[in-house]
Amino acid sequence: MDIQSIRSQFPILAEKIHGKPLVYFDNGATTQKPLSVIQRISDYYSKENANIHRGVHTLSQEATTAYENARNTIQKHIGAKENYEVLFTKGTTDGINLVAFSFGELLNAGDEIIISAMEHHSNIVPWQMLCERKGCKLRVIPMNEKGELELDQFDKLLSDKTKLVAVTHISNSLGTVNDVKYIIEKAHAIGAKVLIDGAQSIQHIQVNVQELDCDFYVFSGHKLFGPTGIGVLYGKEEILNQMPPYQGGGDMIKEVTFEKTTYNVLPHKFEAGTPNIAGGIGLGAAFEFLNSLDMKEVLKHEQELLDYATAELTKIEGIKFYGEAKEKTSVISFLIDGLHPYDVGTLLDKMGIAVRTGHHCTQPIMDQFCIPGTIRASFALYNTKEEIDVFIAALNRIIPMLKD
Ligand code: PMP
Repeated sequence: MDIQSIRSQFPILAEKIHGKPLVYFDNGATTQKPLSVIQRISDYYSKENANIHRGVHTLSQEATTAYENARNTIQKHIGAKENYEVLFTKGTTDGINLVAFSFGELLNAGDEIIISAMEHHSNIVPWQMLCERKGCKLRVIPMNEKGELELDQFDKLLSDKTKLVAVTHISNSLGTVNDVKYIIEKAHAIGAKVLIDGAQSIQHIQVNVQELDCDFYVFSGHKLFGPTGIGVLYGKEEILNQMPPYQGGGDMIKEVTFEKTTYNVLPHKFEAGTPNIAGGIGLGAAFEFLNSLDMKEVLKHEQELLDYATAELTKIEGIKFYGEAKEKTSVISFLIDGLHPYDVGTLLDKMGIAVRTGHHCTQPIMDQFCIPGTIRASFALYNTKEEIDVFIAALNRIIPMLKD
């Protein structure tokens, strides 16, 4: 992989922060955007902007085609059987809330939903809200000290009461890659459906929803080089057809009278109102960018970055890592003895280095480790070993300053 050529496609990487070249290690929060995505959004607003699906005029038809082409590009990339199984949402959070509300309508008091100890708040809270609404029960797969799910405990949680299992593919706080194929097979064996939170996956690994055989797969555009405010909920046709609509409004209807409304077919049934058209088209461009890469090479490069950074950080006295799973990618969470993560993050920023500090929207993980938060460096395909050297040198300057 020619990293310099890839970097040249991301204009922000040439920016300076506090007069220092930007080192962007906050990719778990959001990724930067290549010119192809930025240009595609600009072109849409400059040349094609119109509302979609309803217009007979040329611009409306062009905008509709561009939006639906984006859906087709995403369908191909994630290996969905049908393009109408790809629903546009605002992002991962929105997709999970859609399922919790709509699939949740099919559940009854006493039914159980299984999540895991390493979920992002957006894969915890919607299920708690559903449990309150419907009298369902939330069960949690425990996690060991290395940040790996205890799958033997998961086996024990499964029962005929289990209706849905919702787990993250890759942990945003720890980098753990979960064995979702195992989880899906086991859940299906007792008739439960499975939702995979893919917010941290598609930018790192090739995902194929049919091979996984998951029932739902959710992700956010902004974490895979696309715009904010757009994401995808993949759902199997058969299940989506059983689910009631999430929101009512334009586009999701077939016919409306004051007495009764009939609903539109997929995907429109779940896409009420004018969508984020530019976002969808921009997300299509982000997937085209991903398609221009060999995802095996991407993973290899990111794995090298992870190994190199881990080895270099290990040399720092008083460092403690959180998340040492055997299967792990792109994320390093750590603390340095006696230093507050916020102070470290603030001083790193002064040196042009962007990392995230805090609980990363995974407070239960922090509670398990009895810490308020971590310093998290999260890598993307455009990061380099040289940037890691800058990061390590900066830490070696900061530590004595803060310890004095
Ligand atoms: N799940 C995971 C694993 C995440 O990393 C994130 C974002 N940090 C989310 C869900 C929520 O994504 P969004 O804020 O884009 O909806």
